[in-house]
Parts: sequence; structure tokens; C-alpha cells
Amino acid sequence: MEAVVKYALGPGNVELRDVSEPSPGPDEVKIEIKAAGICGSDLHILHGDIKLLIRPPVIMGHEFSGSVTEVGSSVSKWKPGDRVTSETSAQVCGECIPCRTGNYNVCAEKRLIGYWFNGAFAKYCIVPSRLVHRLPDNVSYAAGALSEPLACCINAVVEKTVILPGDFVVVTGPGPIGLLSLQLAKAKGGFAVLVGTGVDEKRLGIGRELGANVTVNVDEEDPLKIVSGLTNGAGADIFIECSGSPGAVRSGFQLVRRGGQYTQIGLTGRSFELDFDNVAYKELTVRGSLGQSWPYWKRGLKMLSQGQVKTEPLISDILPLQQWKEGFGKVENKEGLKVILKPE
Ligand SMILES: [Zn+2]
Ligand SMILES: [Zn+2]
Repeated sequence: MEAVVKYALGPGNVELRDVSEPSPGPDEVKIEIKAAGICGSDLHILHGDIKLLIRPPVIMGHEFSGSVTEVGSSVSKWKPGDRVTSETSAQVCGECIPCRTGNYNVCAEKRLIGYWFNGAFAKYCIVPSRLVHRLPDNVSYAAGALSEPLACCINAVVEKTVILPGDFVVVTGPGPIGLLSLQLAKAKGGFAVLVGTGVDEKRLGIGRELGANVTVNVDEEDPLKIVSGLTNGAGADIFIECSGSPGAVRSGFQLVRRGGQYTQIGLTGRSFELDFDNVAYKELTVRGSLGQSWPYWKRGLKMLSQGQVKTEPLISDILPLQQWKEGFGKVENKEGLKVILKPE
């Protein structure tokens, strides 16, 4: 079968290769991939600038859905034809404090599908059966491919951040993560301001369609002034950073109110200067979130099924696997939003 393979560490070293079709071990499920999303971190894998562990040669792709075609001898829960999606934490230690307390998404020994184990940019993918989640009947395969990023956002916005109806929430970075986070903040009853740059104009428009009360293009307007104006000078109750831009992080510490909450989802990929005293002076609650675990998948799939989170406006392109380069390019130059690869 054809597969998009990262065949060596470092920049580049990704190509479409012919690899042998895998078969499941006793506890594993073989999934025929129907949709696989290209994630920002796939670009980092391509460029070789990600801190997460990669073991080449490895088939990339960690946001996917498909149909079960074969199960291992000790798998009884799944059968051929089941419509499914899958978690990505294929290996965790099971012994550390995060693992023992259900937070295996931050296990130091975590090894991911699409990074360490073969992923979904191929016709078939093998996953441990415990990672598999059923796709609700009314959730399409394309939408199902967004259940991984959605579960990440549920972790950050729904579980970690306390948002009450009427809370003033600022979300920076209107990519797929920002647009999912925006919808979750709205679902919790927040008043949401979505912030982006000039190249994000189209994405900010999608944000308005998805419920953003106000959108701000920082190349034209000062978000600090706008937030201050809308909150009688108090500042935002909650700031959710999805862009990974140091400038957005700094502005978050400024425009969040005294006693407010700051949640980081985006990764800047570098050290930068920040006035951290704001945390003390303003008594901020600062949180981070990384990846997802079982309860967040369950909640995300329910919300997709109930229509509380919409994915269609986020899907900009559906391309055959062979056009992976074009798809990566569209994500890189922001011409695309969520690009889905479809192995034939
Ligand atoms: Zn991802
Ligand atoms: Zn662990």
C-alpha cells in the first residue's frame, strides 16, 4: 500500500512510499482509513523541529477515522465494518503519576501513532483495540478525523478552564484548534472574541459563522483596546492561546483581567521574553494542556453527534493521499484550514 513516510530525522525526509500491508496482532484492530487530517505538528515533523519523539521510518498521520476490516484474536469489542476513530497514545508507561491518575496524555514515556508507531496517511492503520472509539452514526468520516484535535480542545477549554455563562473569553489563533476552542467556549456560554492576523481574514469570517461575538485582526486593530472597551477596562475573564505566537502570549498576559485565567494550547517552539510578574500581580491562574485522553474523546464525540461542535466549515480540502505534498503546502501557507487526505 502507499503511505506518507517520514524516513529519517531532520528537515524533510518525507515521501510517498510503497510499504507492505500490515496485519493486526492479538490485541489490535486494523482500520481502513477513510479520512486523515493534516495537523500543524505534521508540518513540524516534516521540518524536523518538534520535541515529541519520532521513530523513523514511520507512516505519519494521527487524526483519522475509518472502518474496521480485521481484528486480532483476542479482540471481541470490535468487528469488521465498525465505523471508528482512534486515540493516539499507543504506548504509555502505566506506572507514573500522570498514568496512575488518568492523565496519560502527559506521560513522559508516551509514544504516539503517526510519530513513533505507523499512522494514518496510508490505506490501513493498525491500532491497539483499547484506543478505538466508535463514531456516532451521524458523524461523517471527515468529521471523525477531527475528533483528535477536538479532544485536545476539550481537555483545554472544557475540562481545564472554568468558563461560566457570560464569561468574556478571548481566543487567539483562528486555525482548527482555535475554531474548535471557540465553539467550546461558546457551548459553555461564554462571550467569545476571536483574534487573528491579516492572513487570517477568511478564518476570522469562519469564526464569526461559528459563533464568535467579535473578531479582531491585530494588523488593523489593537486587541487590548478592543477588549478593554468591551469590558469597561476590566479585561477578559479568560484567555485561550491557540496560535503559538510569543506576541499573542504576551498580549494574553496583558488583556486578561486581574484574577483571570490564562490557558495555553499553542506551542511557540522557542524561548521568548515575557513579563511573568503579571501572574503574581494579577493573581492569574495559568494552565497548560497537551493532547487528550479517554474522557475527552467521549465528550468530543457526543458533542459532534449533538451538533454542538461543527467541523464542516473547518474542512477546506479533501485530497487523495498521493497529493499529500499539496495538502501540506496548503496547511503551511494557510490557504487551507483543515486539509483531509483520503487514501483510495
Ligand atoms: Zn494533531
Ligand atoms: Zn506514564
